[in-house]
Amino acid sequence: MAKKKPPVQKNQTIELTFEDLTHEGDGVGKIEGYPLFVPYALPGEKAKVKVIKVKKNFGFGKLLDVHEASPERVEPPCDVFFQCGGCQIQHMRYQMQLDMKQKQVKDAMRKIGHLENVPVHPVKGMKDPWRYRNKVQMPVGERDGRLVAGFYQKRSHNIIDMDTCVVQQESNDRMIEAVRRIAERYGIEAYDEDNNRGILRHIMVRTGQNTQDVMVVLVTRTKELPNKDKLVNEIREAYPSVKSIVQNINPKQTNVIMGKETTVLWGEEYIYDTIGDIKFAISPKSFYQINPTQTKVLYEQALDYAELTGKEQVVDAYCGIGTISLFLAQNVKKVYGVEVVPEAVSDAKANAKLNKIENAEFYVGEAEKIMPWWKAQGLQPDVIVVDPPRKGCDEELLKAMIEMKPERIVYVSCNPSTLARDLRILEDGGFETKEVQPVDMFPQTSHVECVSWLKKVKLT
Ligand code: SAH
Repeated sequence: MAKKKPPVQKNQTIELTFEDLTHEGDGVGKIEGYPLFVPYALPGEKAKVKVIKVKKNFGFGKLLDVHEASPERVEPPCDVFFQCGGCQIQHMRYQMQLDMKQKQVKDAMRKIGHLENVPVHPVKGMKDPWRYRNKVQMPVGERDGRLVAGFYQKRSHNIIDMDTCVVQQESNDRMIEAVRRIAERYGIEAYDEDNNRGILRHIMVRTGQNTQDVMVVLVTRTKELPNKDKLVNEIREAYPSVKSIVQNINPKQTNVIMGKETTVLWGEEYIYDTIGDIKFAISPKSFYQINPTQTKVLYEQALDYAELTGKEQVVDAYCGIGTISLFLAQNVKKVYGVEVVPEAVSDAKANAKLNKIENAEFYVGEAEKIMPWWKAQGLQPDVIVVDPPRKGCDEELLKAMIEMKPERIVYVSCNPSTLARDLRILEDGGFETKEVQPVDMFPQTSHVECVSWLKKVKLT
């Protein structure tokens, strides 16, 4: 059978009408049934497009000129939106962003999980979907003898020199610029990743949204940091909200941002933040949700789905610094957390003490190893909460969960595809997914977070 040739060629300019959106937020238009994916195009729009990549069954294009704009199109407030790889959908009205994310979750449930009948609720969004991020990590480079700090351009390691990032809390923005300027003044060289030379690799800033405490982390290739004391003093004096200045040393030629060794240059080795009534100490390497306003919405949903009465034993797998565990602790008999990063587990233990919570225990280890061990010890949780990274739960963990037969499972996920895959395994293991509530933790980007509620199927 003769293969059908794609109806377009590379570098060709065409007129295209858009019908749909991908999960990443790219527009989809078809020519003779052949789909072209075009970033920043919206359904209903007619536009001039340059074909930039042609594959057998689909291609990619670049938006040149929109002739008929969608009423959903808005002017992105960020100057570098079209170059930066950080946000994908600032050009979309916020309600459309939420609708797109709900559809993304529904599609994953249907196509990957074969869960056609599970209700996926409308996404819980933010009142003000800007300036929400509490953490920024910017690579540092050199241009014309000056230091630059900014995000990478899409699909490259070119640093975009930017004045402000509109999804960052103001203090993060200000501190990045301040540290860049002060480091430049004291002649600190930027890291050169091609040759693994130079010194300053990344500046990381974290702000406790509710305390306004600021932590600055200087990630360096070398242990030596010239003019370290002057640098630290100047940051401290100019910015009293800075409570912690830390150096992390990463000598390796790698994309991983932080290295093993961390030393405190000044102040404490953590900052504080609160979620609801609970106070958290957060150290440089610990995972902490980046959108505290929406984290509260997320955890309240998890609490609701856990249906706690005060008598339950609960497992919190992938617990980080114990945020979910401690949020639930007041309403349970006992909560057991497990987390692979030792620093995070130390934070979790310290956080339990800080809040005078005595019914939470935390363990360092891989959830997939600790859970079967807990089971062997005879632990029978009534509720299991999981909140894994993007790759989802390990199969061994899912197996242990199924064997432990808890009454309820609350699955928090930042990736609808792996969520749907794992829900299918849990369904086949005797649980029923009652509902899924997406929460918009990452406005202006195509990411979406979900809380799902599962119950053990009762045999009648
Ligand atoms: N529930 C926490 C953290 C969720 S992020 C919160 O809401 O803040 C996922 C966490 O899983 C991270 O802290 C990561 O370090 C941890 N992690 C990754 N792989 C793991 C594994 N195999 N076992 C246990 N924890 C793991």
